[in-house]
Amino acid sequence: MRKFDIVCRKCNHKQTFEKPQKQCTHCGEAWLDAEYNLKGLMTPDENGHTWLDTLSMRGASQWRYRELLPIQNDENIVTLGEGWTPMIRAHNLGLMLGHPNIYIKDERQGPTGSFKDRQASIAISVMKEAGVKEAVVASTGNVAIAYSAFGARAGVKMWVFVTSSVPSEKMREVAIYGSEVIKVAGTYDEAKQIAAEFSESKGIFLDRGVKAIAAKEAMKTVAFEIAEQLGSIHAGTDPSVPHGNKYAWQSPDWFIQAVSGGMGPVGVMKGFEELNEMGILNKVPKLACYQVSGCAPMAMSFQKGLEVAEPVKNPITDITTLATGIPGQAYSVLRELIGKYGGTMDSVTDSEAFHALHSVAKMDGLSIEPATAVAFAGLFKMVQSGQIKPEEVVVINCSGHTFPVEKHIVGDHYAYDVDLKSKPGVDGRNRQEGLLTALEEVDSRVQRIAIIEDNPDAARLIRRILQAQGEFIIDEAIDGVQGLELIQANPPNLVILDLMMPRLDGFGIVETMKKDPFLKDVPIIVITAKELSAIERERLDGKIKALLQKGTFMDSDLLSDIRQALPE
Ligand SMILES: *Cc1c(COP(=O)(O)O)cnc(C)c1O
Ligand SMILES: [Zn+2]
Repeated sequence: MRKFDIVCRKCNHKQTFEKPQKQCTHCGEAWLDAEYNLKGLMTPDENGHTWLDTLSMRGASQWRYRELLPIQNDENIVTLGEGWTPMIRAHNLGLMLGHPNIYIKDERQGPTGSFKDRQASIAISVMKEAGVKEAVVASTGNVAIAYSAFGARAGVKMWVFVTSSVPSEKMREVAIYGSEVIKVAGTYDEAKQIAAEFSESKGIFLDRGVKAIAAKEAMKTVAFEIAEQLGSIHAGTDPSVPHGNKYAWQSPDWFIQAVSGGMGPVGVMKGFEELNEMGILNKVPKLACYQVSGCAPMAMSFQKGLEVAEPVKNPITDITTLATGIPGQAYSVLRELIGKYGGTMDSVTDSEAFHALHSVAKMDGLSIEPATAVAFAGLFKMVQSGQIKPEEVVVINCSGHTFPVEKHIVGDHYAYDVDLKSKPGVDGRNRQEGLLTALEEVDSRVQRIAIIEDNPDAARLIRRILQAQGEFIIDEAIDGVQGLELIQANPPNLVILDLMMPRLDGFGIVETMKKDPFLKDVPIIVITAKELSAIERERLDGKIKALLQKGTFMDSDLLSDIRQALPE
C-alpha cells in the first residue's frame, strides 16, 4: 500500500491520508492538498535506480505516474485508457503567427473527449478505494459526461446536477451512461449549491471539485506528460512514445488554458512544481488563464489587482462550459502562482472564441469545442500584443471536444427539471423548503433490492445493472450470514442471491427465508456460476423466481426477470 500525506492550505496541518475528508481536522479549511515523498522517489535504490528509471518500463497512460497520484492500491484504479494524449505541433497556426514552438496538448482524444477524463478516472478510483457506491457531482457539462462513463465502469452511481443551459447533446451523452440527470434552471453556482444540499440531505458522497484532492492531482498528469513529451521533442524523437529516463524532461515557457473553476491550471502548476522540486525540471512555466468576457470573475479581479475574486452573479455567455461565476479560492491560488512564475489572467469575447474555433479547425485540422477556443483566442491575443515572444515554447491545453449523442438514441425524457424561480416564497427559508421538496421528487426509488454475493466483481456487475435504472434502493452483503442479517433487519422487495458462499450458502438462505413469516413471500432470483445437480435443482424448485447462469445473461434479461418477480 502506497502512502501520502494531506496538507491543509490554511494551517499546514499534515496527516497521512486515510479516506477522503471534507475539511482539515484541525482548522476546518476545505482546501486540502496531497503531499508525496518527492525526495524519496528521487533517491537511488540499491541498483542505483530512481523513480524516473521505473517509468521507462511503463505504458502510455496517466497511471504511469501513479506514485504521485492519490491511490493506495493499484487494484482500485478505474481506467478507460485516459491520458498520454498527443502533443501536436501547431504547424500552420505557428507559421501564420510566426511562432514555431506552439504545441497543442490534444485532450480531445480522451475517452469521453475532454481533459475531465483524467479527473474522472482518478476521482472515481478514489471513490472505489473508499467504498463509495453513489456520488453527487455538479458540472458545466464535461465533468458530468466523464464521471458518468467512469462511474458506470466502477459501479458508482452518479447524480449529476447541471444547468438547463448545458447543450442537450451533452446531456444525452450523460444519460446514455445511466446517470441521474438533474437540470437546474439557474446559474452553475446555484446548481452546485443545490447538489451540495441534495448530497447532505440524502447522505450521498459529494464530489468537492477543485477543493478535493483527486481533481488537482489528476490535472498534474497533464504537466508530467508535457514535460516528458517535450523531452522527446527536444531530443528530436517521437513524443508519442513514453521514454522515462532517456532524455532530459523540458518545461515549456508558457502553459495556456481556458478557465472556468480553475481546476486545470491549479493541478497542472502543482505538477510542474513537483517536477521542479524533484530536480527533473529546472523551472516552472508562466501561466495564462483565459475566460469569456461574459463570465470572467478571475480575469476581472486579476486586472483590478484584487486578492480575492469578485463573483459574477449573472454570467452572460453561450459558452456554458466556462460559466463559473464564483471562483472562490482557486483564484487566489492561481494569482499567487502567477505572482511567483509570471503570466496573466485575461478574457476574450464569445465572438473572438468562435473565430478562433474556425481558425484552429481550418488551419490545423482540430475541431474543438467553444470553451477550448477561448484558450486559442487568448493565444492569438498574446502573440499579437507581444506578450509571448516568437522563440518561446508554448503549450496550449486543447481541453475538449464532445461528440454528440444523436437525439433518437436517448429521447427527451432523460432529465429531471428543478426550477428555483417557480417555487413559492420569497424569503430564503421558503425557497430552501421548496427546493428540498422538489428534490424529494427527483429520487423516485421505492423498491429495495438486496444483493447477497461474495464475489466483488459479480456484485459490482449486478449493482451496476440495477443502478443504471434509477428505481432501486440497493443493499449489499458479502456472505450468507451477513446477507441474512441484512434482509431480516430491512426486508427487501426482492433478493438477488449467489449460491456458493462462505459461512452460509444460498440454499441455506432460501430455506431460512421460506420459514420466516416476514421473508417467505419476498421473491428471490438466483445468479450462480454453479452447474446445478438434479438434487440441487429440486431444493430450489418452487422457491425462486428465476435462475440465471453467470456469464450468460444480458442486463435486459436480469431486469426483465426482476420486473416479473416484483409485486405490482
Ligand atoms: C472544464 C473545462 C474547462 C475549464 O477547466 P477548469 O480548469 O476547471 O477551469 C475548459 N475547457 C473544457 C473543454 C472543459 O471541459
Ligand atoms: Zn487546517
